[in-house]
Amino acid sequence: MNRIFSGIQPTGNLHLGNYLGAIRNFVRLQDDYDCIYCVVDLHAITVWQDPDELRTSIRQVTAAYIAAGLNPKKSILFNQSQVPEHAELAWVFNCVARLGWLNRMTQFKEKAGKDRENASVGLYAYPNLMAADILAYRATHVPVGEDQKQHLELSRDIAQKFNNDFAPQITAKGYADGIFFPQPEPVITGPATRVMSLRDGTKKMSKSDPSELSRINLTDDADVVAKKIQKARTDPEPIPSETKGFEGRPEAENLVGIFAALSGKSAEDVLGEYGGQQFSTFKKALAEVATETLGRIGGDVKRLMDDPEHIDKILADGAGRARAIATPIMDEVKDIVGLIRR
Ligand code: ATP
Ligand code: MG
Repeated sequence: MNRIFSGIQPTGNLHLGNYLGAIRNFVRLQDDYDCIYCVVDLHAITVWQDPDELRTSIRQVTAAYIAAGLNPKKSILFNQSQVPEHAELAWVFNCVARLGWLNRMTQFKEKAGKDRENASVGLYAYPNLMAADILAYRATHVPVGEDQKQHLELSRDIAQKFNNDFAPQITAKGYADGIFFPQPEPVITGPATRVMSLRDGTKKMSKSDPSELSRINLTDDADVVAKKIQKARTDPEPIPSETKGFEGRPEAENLVGIFAALSGKSAEDVLGEYGGQQFSTFKKALAEVATETLGRIGGDVKRLMDDPEHIDKILADGAGRARAIATPIMDEVKDIVGLIRR
């Protein structure tokens, strides 16, 4: 791996899925690699956001990154809209990607729902902007949750087509192997790459789910966490003793998976301990484990949010460092495509 890029949308409260599937891995990677972590505010506005709430969310996601252990001096941490190269490169990619490719994207279908005609053009073109986010830095590895795998595949297709379409210009620029953009690889690791909704074990936990009870937010206090876990949907059977007992029981599998990921145990070990017991007992233990991790992060987020100017300074500093990487790459893109620049 030589350069890591990833982002999170400021679309609302960060939840356990974002933490276990993404942020926790971001933090681990920063010790060994050059990492660029972004608050992708341009992605957020693909669905309506109240402007004041958006500003707060941008700061809150930044605070959550830091509270979870991200070091803004070591890694680059900034919000997307402060680096115009993201939007610039996204336009070029709008002209590289094919309609047929975007038509296959399941996230658009899920988010647009039945009223597709009424979805924004931005929501449809979202994966092109995501490809630009990554490739504006020629990033090679992208830590994400399972749900982003398809978008990463599209980013690879875009990188490849750009390299093919402009092969002579890329070679003339001195890229002897003809590779201007690398093929970014998804890094989907850890024990919880897809945390499911607490209300429906077949749907992923999401910031944009209208039901607050569907997710555990990083800033929920102990009482709220306990209440949400207690109300989490389950079936009437006791906890299974082996993982094959999860068949047809997605809610049981999800809760045990969350417990395992938070406590650093395997699902087998958790089942060894709680197999045969009722959910009511297990849920109490889960609430305790969850509060232990979240209490600390939530407290730090709240403290950081007391000083918005400090957060804005971190974002501005990160944006400056990000731009220093993205501008020369975008300049080369313009040369390759045939655009005149100063
Ligand atoms: P939205 O509903 O607005 O799309 P989201 O909860 O899906 O919000 P994103 O900002 O889209 O969050 O995603 C940020 C990161 O968190 C991505 O890497 C994504 O793959 C990961 N992620 C999101 N939801 C989950 C989940 N339920 N389990 C594991 N990882 C997740
Ligand atoms: Mg999402």
